[in-house]
Amino acid sequence: MQFIETRGNDGKKPSTITFSEAILNPSASFGGLYVPESIPELNETFLASHLASHYKVLALDFLQKFGIDIETKVLNKALDRYDDFDDPSNPVPLSKIEEECFVAELYHGPTRAFKDMALQPFGYILSKLAQQRGEQYLIMAATSGDTGPATLETFKNQDGVKVACLYPEGGTSDVQRLQMVTEDANNLKVIGVKGNFDDTQNTLKDLLASEDFKAQLAQRDIKLSAANSVNFGRIIFQIIYHIHAYLELLRKDEIRMGEKIYLVVPSGNFGNALGAYYAKKAGLPIEKILISSNVNNILTDWIKTGTYDLTTRELIQTQSPAMDILKSSNIERIMFDKFGAARTKELMESLATTGKSQLTDIELASLQEDFDASFADDDTCASVIGEYAQKGYIMDPHTATCMGAYATLRAKPLKTVVYSTAEWTKFSPAVAAALGKKIEDDIEALKWVSKEANLVVPSMIESLFDKPIKHTVVVEKESIQTQMLDFL
Ligand SMILES: *Cc1c(COP(=O)(O)O)cnc(C)c1O
Repeated sequence: MQFIETRGNDGKKPSTITFSEAILNPSASFGGLYVPESIPELNETFLASHLASHYKVLALDFLQKFGIDIETKVLNKALDRYDDFDDPSNPVPLSKIEEECFVAELYHGPTRAFKDMALQPFGYILSKLAQQRGEQYLIMAATSGDTGPATLETFKNQDGVKVACLYPEGGTSDVQRLQMVTEDANNLKVIGVKGNFDDTQNTLKDLLASEDFKAQLAQRDIKLSAANSVNFGRIIFQIIYHIHAYLELLRKDEIRMGEKIYLVVPSGNFGNALGAYYAKKAGLPIEKILISSNVNNILTDWIKTGTYDLTTRELIQTQSPAMDILKSSNIERIMFDKFGAARTKELMESLATTGKSQLTDIELASLQEDFDASFADDDTCASVIGEYAQKGYIMDPHTATCMGAYATLRAKPLKTVVYSTAEWTKFSPAVAAALGKKIEDDIEALKWVSKEANLVVPSMIESLFDKPIKHTVVVEKESIQTQMLDFL
């Protein structure tokens, strides 16, 4: 399988590359992204042959059908990362919460958010490739919460890769900050930045654009890669759990082979939803993918009207911070798949220069064949959390954005999978408030919710509060380069 570019080729970069090239150097011509030339078919024979499979067996078979240039030995080792999940034989358990509604819990990995599903195996593969080539890579991430901990966790003590993670001081939950600053490994650096998430992201952008910094990296023979979902190495692992969810419904006798289902995906950068789209395109019987957002509902507008307009918006901080995103990177891959490279380039350039892009009626109709969308504000999410807690199910604020989509967007009475992207333990003050108790302190909120709802706090969250702090650096924007060079 070769990979091609969403905005076409600039005549300087190669026009097709392998999977390993695409994950080591994820930026394509004209600022575009890499996408696979085609998607392998997922027919009923494939699904039937995996009814009794362990998650890792399904995953390996799927990855091999994709024909990526990674040795089986390395893929197996990468998939062994799922052995650290709560239940290695089923890393994504499915809970029934309504007659037709099932929650697929994507958060049973080491950092308790769905980022582990892809970052865990991806991290192994990327560092293995770096080692095989005798190269050194630097991965830099600006995080508002979940990406940082999951990126540090997957690369800790891996040769060939160094990771630097920037977070806004005071802009993450206590649990998220502790997950980062207590990480203890020589190849990891965590830096607090004075300012909000925007400032942090701008600091990173400026640093990556600095000629001086680039020269310093070159001098040290260090290459840059990326671990966010612009990297296709993450997306490929995000197709598999949608297949798994379908198989789980079959195993539980909730559907017959071939019966269509809805998926509800709480979205930000659209990586999770893109994985669902590829699964649908490959033949998984999905009626529609329902996208949920918080009040930063630019995706709702895009899918309902074809308009993507940044000029009328400012980012609003919500209780579901991982979805506080306005520039959703992976919709570019949907545009490419539906409208081709020339049109994708045009739409993305329009967005960059005017802050807006507009689909035609025909394009919009095509988008709506696969997607519908809705959003929920924080108050609505709090009532949803309260309502389901009464029925015995605790969900986090990101998952809670999905329930309005479930209630209103299903045109047919089909079984539905809602994706839960974070464990409640990462957002315990918001969950406590939804259950009627205002508690600001994370540890107090964790204790209270755990008692109130009779839930266990997993050891990796509980132990965070006793671990020594390893990263104490908090800097002004200006000192970031000095800090980085010290680290490198
Ligand atoms: C990253 C994240 C999302 C958004 O997922 P995308 O793939 O970027 O759309 C939603 N919820 C949580 C908890 C996340 O960490």
